[in-house]
Amino acid sequence: MFGLGMPELLVILLIALVVFGAARLPQIGSSLGSAIREFKKSVESPGREVPPAPPEEIVCGQCRRPLQKDWITCPHCGTKREA
Ligand SMILES: [Zn+2]
Repeated sequence: MFGLGMPELLVILLIALVVFGAARLPQIGSSLGSAIREFKKSVESPGREVPPAPPEEIVCGQCRRPLQKDWITCPHCGTKREA
């Protein structure tokens, strides 16, 4: 894929070996792996669940403006809230 064949991949690998050094390559691989694991953990962590969706919006039956849950009458038009 990307128009790369095996020779190109080998060249890239060789350049990586030269740049990072052969000894550090496994280290880089493992730190990359642990970074991915940490990311997955944070995604799957039950402590970081998205907050529950806000309750359905209550709107005034008369003027259709949003109302607070505990408002009995609409402050905008004075209409009593529907049950
Ligand atoms: Zn209203």
